Amino acid sequence: MPGNKAWFTWGPAWPVSPPLVPAAVYAIPDLDTLESIYAAETPGYIYARDGHPNADYLAEQINELEQARWGMITASGMAAISVVLLGLLAPGERIIVSDRLYGKTSRLIHGELRRLGILSTAVDICDLDAVERALTAAPARVLFTETISNPLCRVANLPRLAEMARALGVLLIVDNTFASPVLCRPLQVGAAVVVESLTKFLGGHSDLTLGYVGGQGNRFVEPWVERICAGVSLWGSTGNPWECWLTSRGLETLELRVAAACRNAQILADWLARQTGVLQVVYPGRADHPDHHLAGQLFAHRYGPMLAVELEGGRDAVNHWLRANPEIPLAPSLGHTRTTCSHPTSTSHRNDSPADRQRQGIRDGLLRFSLGCEPESELLSKFEAGWLRFLKSLPGQYPE
Ligand SMILES: *Cc1c(COP(=O)(O)O)cnc(C)c1O
Repeated sequence: MPGNKAWFTWGPAWPVSPPLVPAAVYAIPDLDTLESIYAAETPGYIYARDGHPNADYLAEQINELEQARWGMITASGMAAISVVLLGLLAPGERIIVSDRLYGKTSRLIHGELRRLGILSTAVDICDLDAVERALTAAPARVLFTETISNPLCRVANLPRLAEMARALGVLLIVDNTFASPVLCRPLQVGAAVVVESLTKFLGGHSDLTLGYVGGQGNRFVEPWVERICAGVSLWGSTGNPWECWLTSRGLETLELRVAAACRNAQILADWLARQTGVLQVVYPGRADHPDHHLAGQLFAHRYGPMLAVELEGGRDAVNHWLRANPEIPLAPSLGHTRTTCSHPTSTSHRNDSPADRQRQGIRDGLLRFSLGCEPESELLSKFEAGWLRFLKSLPGQYPE
């Protein structure tokens, strides 16, 4: 191995994609340099868990998308949520959360955080009076919501929630995974912190697991910001260079992919509403969705890449549909380049009690779609052929 860094030069021209630096540790010429890197007087890296170029490059890309003043890459979306909540909350403090959160977030907050002595209250985030009552009933440190909920796509009124939180000195944290910064920048409408699962639309190709947390405030002034940033290394949540590199690459097409997915979602929602065997179509872009108007305002007349449909015939009908539609894979995630589906009762919401699922309106016949950016003609031909196979496969529908 060459003994110095000279082997890593490329003359006057430079590579148009960022280099991938998988090194776990860096060789430092002397103690004075070491001290000055630790003191952040000289730019540089020492140990990759504390920071590495691919994470910093990616964090800067997303900071710009989110208009964040600071941001950190974490090993997953859940790691981002853990690091921010562990950095912000102390035993005896309260967090108020939406009662329609991603299943694991809900378990983390009402299970693990409670075990550590942190109090939690769940509230219907779409009922602003109920949120106001929860905020004023007892002191709270954090209000936590998702921009768009899973799977019924309820939209949170972020500007109003931010206003209410700020008036009481509460920090609003927004999980923006379903919207992505293409549709919504929570920090610009008053949130203190935004988190994203990069595993979904930002990575965009279902080939990596990473998260991001970023926000307002100044790392070097506010102790809670510094605790979150330092927490990434302390809690061991660093993302690995290769996945950071892949996400940086995915971001090059984020706007195109999400714009196409939103167009496809509207087309598919309207098409599904005309099909036999459909009980209801749930999409904010349709006038019968409870948040149609709010979504239009908040997302500048785009309505998101996610939709749900309820089939007549419950779980059995879903099984028939899945077997008739191998081209729309049952893949319990979202944000892939091609359209995928999930069955909330069996996947994201499997740990909820039947009563809790009923409260949320999640029934056994509900299928959720994450739209991809395939051409409209390809999308519709897949669904048209699959729907015919589905109807034919239903017992008693088309006797031979
Ligand atoms: C997937 C997801 C998460 C968790 O992200 P991971 O990268 O899987 O850890 C959090 N929130 C929402 C809304 C998600 O969809």
